[in-house]
Amino acid sequence: MLGSCELCERRCGINRLAGERAPCGLGSETWSFKRHVSFAEEIELLPSYMVYFGGCNFRCAFCVQAPVCFDPRRGERIEPGPLAREFERIVEHGARTINLLGGEPSLHLHTILDIAAEAAERGVRLPLVLNSNFYMTPEVLELLEGVVDIYLADFKFGRGACATRVAGVERYWEVVTRNLLLASEHAAKNGASVLVRHLLMPGHVDCCHAPVAEWMAANLPKAHLHVMDSYVPAWRACGHEELGRLLTDDERARARGVAAALTVSRSQEACV
Ligand code: SF4
Repeated sequence: MLGSCELCERRCGINRLAGERAPCGLGSETWSFKRHVSFAEEIELLPSYMVYFGGCNFRCAFCVQAPVCFDPRRGERIEPGPLAREFERIVEHGARTINLLGGEPSLHLHTILDIAAEAAERGVRLPLVLNSNFYMTPEVLELLEGVVDIYLADFKFGRGACATRVAGVERYWEVVTRNLLLASEHAAKNGASVLVRHLLMPGHVDCCHAPVAEWMAANLPKAHLHVMDSYVPAWRACGHEELGRLLTDDERARARGVAAALTVSRSQEACV
């Protein structure tokens, strides 16, 4: 797959093994620019060992890891064998999950599969979390089936042009909703789970937050949706038309209103 890359829905067909220039900047190596234990994720993940792989196919204007995370060769080049052993040690010391993020971890599918295979040879199943923008191809999800314990999806944008304007991504809604349904099917078969995060962005309550919450209620009503109101205008958001500020109380209240309306309509459905 790396010889004609279709790991993400850009499907650019670049030969990553030959060092051709990919839009995401990635070759076949995996580098990690940061690793640490976190106590600040969803409670069911904690303590979680955060593993940041370099390189991303998105350019979200407000990215808190930018621009470091876009560099595919920042930090340390990793080898699957030693990293698998590191993960095993961390789990022995009490980490409940290994949280693969970036950048975008699914662009390192080959490395993730090698790590899981290395551990499996010693009879160890690693508690892997795929903390992803969910813009991968279905082929990637198929190969990760049974390998990932928790799919942690960042569902950021609504149906309109926000994904293209803010993150430089086409066909966002179509791809991410398709992948969420696919991952849920895989999770149901394999005893895995799906967690979805949505970052509430200033100026994007009606166009992004409401459609995301409504879609989740209609299509994945049992999945955990974590709406985060901790937005800060990082990286290029400073000076951006609507993203260059914090959330207002009114925006938070409107987002709560969306959740309340969906909760009421779901309990009415349950009564019917
Ligand atoms: S992961 Fe990178 S090289 Fe592969 S299809 Fe996406 S943009 Fe192209």
